[in-house]
Amino acid sequence: MRKNLVVAIDGYSSCGKSTLAKALAKKLGFIYIDSGAMYRAVTLYFLRNQIDVNDARAVKDALDHIELNFHSRDYESHITLNGEEVSEEIRQMPVSENVSEVSANKQVRHEMVKQQQRMGKSKNIVMDGRDIGTTVFEDAQVKLFMTADPKIRAERRFKELQSKGDNLTTLEEVFENIAHRDYADTTRLESPLTRAEDAIVLDNTDLTPAEQLEFALRQVHRHMPV
Ligand code: C5P
Repeated sequence: MRKNLVVAIDGYSSCGKSTLAKALAKKLGFIYIDSGAMYRAVTLYFLRNQIDVNDARAVKDALDHIELNFHSRDYESHITLNGEEVSEEIRQMPVSENVSEVSANKQVRHEMVKQQQRMGKSKNIVMDGRDIGTTVFEDAQVKLFMTADPKIRAERRFKELQSKGDNLTTLEEVFENIAHRDYADTTRLESPLTRAEDAIVLDNTDLTPAEQLEFALRQVHRHMPV
C-alpha cells in the first residue's frame, strides 16, 4: 500500500477541478499537479510544429523533444514547455479546440501517464484530470468525480476568458467547446473519462468554492492519520 496520500480529482471540462485541487493542496500542504496542463502543453507543441497526430513516427519524435516542468508559485501551477513559460497560452482557444484530439492519442497518453505516476510516487499530491482515479492512480486513497450543469460551466469559463482579455470568444463558442470536449473525452478508446467505482461524486452547480472545499476536506480527513 502506498505511504504517500494521493487525492485524485476527475470530471468534466470546466467544472472547477483546478480551483478545488489548488485550494485543497494549499490547505493540506500537498503538491498540486494539473494533468490537463500537460496535455495542453503537448497540444501547443503539436500546433506550433504542425505535428500530425495520426503519424506515429512524428508523434514519437515530438514526444522525445518535449520537456515539461511545473513551477509552483503560491499554488498557481505554472508549466514550462522546453523551458518556455506557456501557462497563459495553453488556456487560449486554439489549444482548447485541439487538445481532445491530441489527448486521445495512445502514445501521448502513455508518456503523460508515466510522467504523472513518477510525480506522485512518494509525495502527497492532489492531481486533477480525466483519468487520475481510473488509470494514473487507481490506488489513490481519495477520489472525487466532479460535475456541474454545462451552462453554468460555460458561463464560468467565459468569464475567466474575458477576465484575461479575450473579448473575441463568445459564450456560445465556449459552450460548444465544452460540449465537444466532454463528448470526445468520454467516448475515446484510450482511458475515457469515467467515474471510478470508488469515486465520490461532487456536483458543484449550486456550491460556492468554499463549500466544495469543505466537502472535499471532509473526504480527505477520513484518510489522514490524526
Ligand atoms: O483539465 P483541462 O480542461 O485543462 O484539460 C484539457 C484536456 O486535456 C481535456 O479536455 C482532455 O481532453 C485532456 N485531459 C486528459 N486527461 C487528463 C487531463 C486532461 O485527457 N488527465
